[in-house]
Amino acid sequence: MVSIYDTDAIEALRIRNAVQPHRIKLFRNALFKNALGRAGALAELPEDARGEFARNIDFQVLEFTERHDSEIDGASKLVFKTTDGHLIESVVLRPATGRTSLCISSQVGCACSCSFCATGKMGFTRNLTADEILDQVTQASRIVKPEGRSIRNVVFMGMGEPLLNLEPLFQSLDFLRAAPFFNYAGSRLMVSTVGIPHAMERFSEKHPDVQLALSLHSARQEVREKLMPQARKYTLDMLRESLLETSRHGKVMIEYLMLSGVNDGDEDFQALVNYLRDIPAHINIIPFNEYAGCNLRGTPQLERKAFADRLKAAGFDTTLRYSLGADIAAACGQLVQHKKGI
Ligand code: SF4
Repeated sequence: MVSIYDTDAIEALRIRNAVQPHRIKLFRNALFKNALGRAGALAELPEDARGEFARNIDFQVLEFTERHDSEIDGASKLVFKTTDGHLIESVVLRPATGRTSLCISSQVGCACSCSFCATGKMGFTRNLTADEILDQVTQASRIVKPEGRSIRNVVFMGMGEPLLNLEPLFQSLDFLRAAPFFNYAGSRLMVSTVGIPHAMERFSEKHPDVQLALSLHSARQEVREKLMPQARKYTLDMLRESLLETSRHGKVMIEYLMLSGVNDGDEDFQALVNYLRDIPAHINIIPFNEYAGCNLRGTPQLERKAFADRLKAAGFDTTLRYSLGADIAAACGQLVQHKKGI
């Protein structure tokens, strides 16, 4: 069996079956752009070649196992099982703007152990392959198609730290952007990181038009270290160098999760303003989704708004984000492997 993303093997299959190149183009369009699934893609091939393609190609590597739909907003958590039995999660977000987004995972679990994150408490199991990353997009596109929706934006904000799985990340971004495959503009894709300086620089050299979002959460070294153990290794000073470098390609997205009594005081505000001076940045203020077993508390909405207003007054592009999917544990930092697949 060959992977649907193995272009050389599919080209060999095409030649062996004397299929015209334009039929392969239609086949891929059906699968990746029109979300018609395996049967819809095979229907684009000459009849006498369909059997051979059906027998030889692995169209998907993940098994779709569960779906949880939010009762308070338009989020759906999709649970997939890998062939070696691990469960991973993706989240479909349907905000009021009507623009459907998909949040995907890049690893099974995560080694970064951020104190506010449920995934971090699972520990790290393994990296996902590029096929497993892409399959989340292919299958989610098919799942939302009956609603008349298509996935407009793809964000790497699910389980895992994408920049610690760099080669599969790069391969999957290549496919997401490639015209014969998903054909996403770089501006429709976003990768979120805790801040791995050398990887951030490699990333912005290779994909300068894909949005990079840094989970900063504090501009005070001692506070950041408590929230994110990776901060001990990659200090704020090191990250600032990388931010200056990556921002040569455009504005950097700064994610700032607001935690009551932790990073929402005057000192925190001032540190943030000083830290981001001279860096073209867009700051996202994010609410914290509390969950059992975590003793952190989110900053109340009015205080978040006041913090955001002060940042705007200080000259920063700032957005006050709302969370989707909190009731189905699908919101930021809540994705977790609830049960073992094996
Ligand atoms: S916030 Fe991201 S990087 Fe940190 S533990 Fe969770 S999944 Fe890993």
